[in-house]
Amino acid sequence: MDEQYFNLSKRKKVVTETKMSFMESLYLPAIFKGMATTISHLFRKPATVRYPEETREFSTIYRGQHVLKRDEKGAERCTACGLCALACPAEAITMEAAERKSDEKHLYREEKYAATYEINMLRCIFCGLCEDACPKEAIFLTDRIVDAEFMRKDFIYGKEILVESMDKPVDVSKRQTPEVLEFKNDKKHKHNQVFEGIQS
Ligand code: SF4
Ligand code: SF4
Repeated sequence: MDEQYFNLSKRKKVVTETKMSFMESLYLPAIFKGMATTISHLFRKPATVRYPEETREFSTIYRGQHVLKRDEKGAERCTACGLCALACPAEAITMEAAERKSDEKHLYREEKYAATYEINMLRCIFCGLCEDACPKEAIFLTDRIVDAEFMRKDFIYGKEILVESMDKPVDVSKRQTPEVLEFKNDKKHKHNQVFEGIQS
């Protein structure tokens, strides 16, 4: 190796070819030592859990799969304003807005609603900025885990997955701890300044 290279990296190791001792040449002591290490692990507390049968307790501020919430009457809260998509650093959110018809007031809370709303879970970094940006309290991250899939297309979550079902509302209060609410209202965070005045 070039001497100049060693001078630059300062990482030099002199390798010498030493002869094996008699015990080393038998190999058996090294094999038994390795086996003893392996067997000793049988009596230790495992570092892994048998997911999904067992789960570890999550942090209270864990951010998992999103939900698009409905209001108390069951109408979708999202008004397709696009602020969540604007706030998303991973450009994971896309949507198409549509105008609510007069006979759809029970379906959509606002006059404009998201006809399509998609989150690419492969892009999402679960930062929670979409939740912070939403002026309608429509999108929340929850304590649910995004399922593993085999196909990339299955990670594009549409409204059929994201909007909460009428009979199984998703409780988002667990993650809205005083610390989280304080963070959301702290004006020193850039996104709170950007959306100040827009939030209702
Ligand atoms: S959690 Fe962050 S990365 Fe994921 S969709 Fe929301 S803003 Fe984008
Ligand atoms: S910010 Fe809220 S209301 Fe606006 S498009 Fe996103 S989820 Fe819908």
